[in-house]
Amino acid sequence: MNQILDNPFPYSNTNKRYHTFSYATKEMYHHKVAKIPLNAGFTCPNRDGTKSVGGCRFCSSNGSGDTILSAQSTLETQFTDNLKRAQQKWPDCLGIPYFQSFSNTYAPLELLKKIYTPFYQRDDIVAIAIATRTDCFTEEQAKWFSKQEKTTWLEFGLQSIHDETAKAMNFAHSAQDAKKAIELCHRYHLKSCLHIINGLPNETEKMMLETAKFVADLHPDAIKIHMLHLLDNSVLGQEWKQQPFDLLTLEQYVSITCDQLEILPPEMIIERVTGDGLASDLLAPLWTQKKTIVANEIDKELLRRNSWQGKYYVANK
Ligand code: SF4
Repeated sequence: MNQILDNPFPYSNTNKRYHTFSYATKEMYHHKVAKIPLNAGFTCPNRDGTKSVGGCRFCSSNGSGDTILSAQSTLETQFTDNLKRAQQKWPDCLGIPYFQSFSNTYAPLELLKKIYTPFYQRDDIVAIAIATRTDCFTEEQAKWFSKQEKTTWLEFGLQSIHDETAKAMNFAHSAQDAKKAIELCHRYHLKSCLHIINGLPNETEKMMLETAKFVADLHPDAIKIHMLHLLDNSVLGQEWKQQPFDLLTLEQYVSITCDQLEILPPEMIIERVTGDGLASDLLAPLWTQKKTIVANEIDKELLRRNSWQGKYYVANK
């Protein structure tokens, strides 16, 4: 227990009652670490017609890579430019190259080797993070990543476990795909992270909690919890402009997110409790732009409840 702050949550040295990325990486690397977003020029089978066309309905035309500087330049330039931006906020921070845009394992292994090997060979990098779809990750890839000397993180969009939402939002992947991908990461000792979205159309709080429970049972190393962002350059954003539908309020989001934190394993790293879209493209909800306020409200709500991450976690036997 942190006696000074009277915080009963063990994985924290601040007032945070959940296991933040900042705390976890300082413990791992004894240094401030920032993820540096990159665009390696991949596409996505949910856009190119292999699985479907049009993509997930909330996804921007940049495939979640809207904030990347120099996205058309070489990966090395992107890394340098985006690391410099991070260092304006955290001088001397180390960078984890984060291959963010689209599906970064959606290519033959030989091409993946060409893209990732130069980053594995750099001395100034402690780990590599790769975002991809759960149905775009193979055992052959897992084997190769597991042989690299640096830690590899695989990040997968789950969003929701509910088939009706997956269909309505055109995810073109299922909860079973997530299960297989995380099991593959566990088998090959790769680090894994699942992304979920709260506030998807027609989802109830019960459904969102079921998604969090599924993640708790699968037990990836980390989770990112996002609020649904409606972006101007997304299908769902355009639909909302034509016919607005209800979105979660900040209070509802905070309450649901705290309920989810309470049932997640205490050691699971909570990489995010808010999203990170491009402000100029955001249609709604506008409160998501105030990330510090969202995080503060979550802190206050956990304190008010006398609660913390994992308080009601029940391990899957
Ligand atoms: S969210 Fe990911 S999987 Fe869905 S369309 Fe965008 S890049 Fe593809």
